[in-house]
Amino acid sequence: MGFSDITQRPVRPLWPAMLNGMKCRCPACGEGKLFGKYLKVTDACAHCGTELHHQRADDAPPYIVITIVGHVAVAILVHLEMTHALHPAIYLATLVPLIILMSLWLLPVTKGAIVGMQWAQYMHGFDPSPIFDEIEHDERA
Ligand SMILES: [Zn+2]
Repeated sequence: MGFSDITQRPVRPLWPAMLNGMKCRCPACGEGKLFGKYLKVTDACAHCGTELHHQRADDAPPYIVITIVGHVAVAILVHLEMTHALHPAIYLATLVPLIILMSLWLLPVTKGAIVGMQWAQYMHGFDPSPIFDEIEHDERA
């Protein structure tokens, strides 16, 4: 593992960390579970011990999911409207469940990617350097 020229911290590869997160695995080792419950990130990885409670995914996963699911749903809706004369109840019976299931599936995937990105970029409390601890202590004081 190399070190950053600027920060002198070990380089944490971004894409493997995000892919591990998308698989709902620990961004550091890819083995331990990232979520204890559906969207509740575990405090620490059970496999490697990496602390994961520092994550601040906040509203990013829902925004990303809305963007993806919205584009897919609107594309399907417009295509069906232009090619078929379907009863509106058919849309309710097919598109609404599709939108709900896609959203429920994509939320942990996108949240895992965000947590993986935050870990790889040393964002928030993922930075173990003592300088960050001092800043955190100053903010609390
Ligand atoms: Zn781990």
